[in-house]
Amino acid sequence: MTKALIIGGGIGGPVAAMALQRAGIEPVVYEAYDRPADYVGLFLNIASNGLDALRAIDIDVAGRADGFPIPRLVMWSGTGKRLGEVANGVRLADGTVSMCVRRGLLQRVLHEEAQGIAFEYGKRLESYTVTAGGVEARFADGTRAAGDILIGADGIHSRTRRILDPGSPEPSFTGLVSVGGYSHSASLAPTTNTQHLVFGKRAFFGYLVRESGEIYWFANLYYPDEPTRQSLAGVSASEWKRQLIELFADDMPLIREIIDNSTGEIGAYPVHDIPASPVWYRGPVVLIGDAVHATSPNAGQGAALACEDAVVLAKCLRDLPDTASAFAAYERLRRARVEKVVAYSRRLGNAKTAGPVARFFRDLMMPLALKIFANEKAHAWMYTHHIDWNEKVGSA
Ligand SMILES: Cc1cc2nc3c(=O)[nH]c(=O)nc-3n(C[C@H](O)[C@H](O)[C@H](O)COP(=O)(O)OP(=O)(O)OC[C@H]3O[C@@H](n4cnc5c(N)ncnc54)[C@H](O)[C@@H]3O)c2cc1C
Repeated sequence: MTKALIIGGGIGGPVAAMALQRAGIEPVVYEAYDRPADYVGLFLNIASNGLDALRAIDIDVAGRADGFPIPRLVMWSGTGKRLGEVANGVRLADGTVSMCVRRGLLQRVLHEEAQGIAFEYGKRLESYTVTAGGVEARFADGTRAAGDILIGADGIHSRTRRILDPGSPEPSFTGLVSVGGYSHSASLAPTTNTQHLVFGKRAFFGYLVRESGEIYWFANLYYPDEPTRQSLAGVSASEWKRQLIELFADDMPLIREIIDNSTGEIGAYPVHDIPASPVWYRGPVVLIGDAVHATSPNAGQGAALACEDAVVLAKCLRDLPDTASAFAAYERLRRARVEKVVAYSRRLGNAKTAGPVARFFRDLMMPLALKIFANEKAHAWMYTHHIDWNEKVGSA
């Protein structure tokens, strides 16, 4: 039986492991964290196409991971003018729509689903060598593992990508820093099925209120120069609150109320993307998810694309006679789609950093633009992508 070493136990890694197991390949997942990271990260969107990819291998996360449906996004100007609304994905045949989940809980559900699959923690990939029989991985703790193939699912700063193609472009800073957390408010009603997005005067704000009164919020701030992750991590929650309240001083008062009532940690990270990786695979090694095509979070597609990659790669390995043709088919089936999503998401981000003149025209034109371009049909290419597990992959 073919043995696959999967580097990274985030979202794409466990899904690849489950899909490969179905395809008759033995997976082992090697994760750098020393234990399951059930509470790491804030929340993310799993778009309907991602839910569809998971269902292709009979994984249903709807109603789990404390997830809840968000089929609708409503846009506002900072002054409180309703600019319009847009569908967040499409409704699948059984009524399922895009969901918001806590990232750590999603990871936990995926690990529960992957019962019987070996996960090894505290295994940070340092290097690998291609051997006569396949590939040997070496980890920072001094241990090694041998397999027939190696799948780099190790996220945007992928070590696998750096070894595979030392000339691969570094992730590109989008000019935005994402800050977010959880809050409560006695005065805000639940925003059932809806996330609100506000184009503020100096920064962008998103929030939703759950039935329990808990609020999930995030802000995108414009940074002309790229900050390090460490410098952002050094900013205390109270300092973030102070800065954010100042940034949103001229916008809807509810933003300042949400920030002021925020409890617990406030997470912050610079937003990067990888518009195009020249090399997706070489020899027995291949990349999936953020490792090969990280997208900014604006389109809410990062997790969904990683799930799609994982399932498509497993199908290619199942149906094609050798690794080289399977990896080539995987790239052929995936590259154009993911690069289109990354570019689309980057464009959405650019609208968040408009200056005063651009802001004026944006607020004027957006209601019309949303009507024309933001209907379900306009984005069907992204959200209705369907993967049929039983359909065979051809080599051409
Ligand atoms: C800690 C964390 C928090 C995040 N929080 C958010 C969020 O709040 N909102 C949002 O929209 N997106 C968030 N993301 C990004 C989002 O989860 C990904 O875009 C998406 O899920 C793509 O999945 P992926 O499996 O390709 O990569 P990831 O989900 O990034 O998973 C990569 C995994 O590889 C592991 N890894 C990295 N390097 C090595 C190595 N050398 N050896 C072994 N393992 C390695 C990482 O620890 C991680 O578990 C977060 C990602 C991470 C890692």
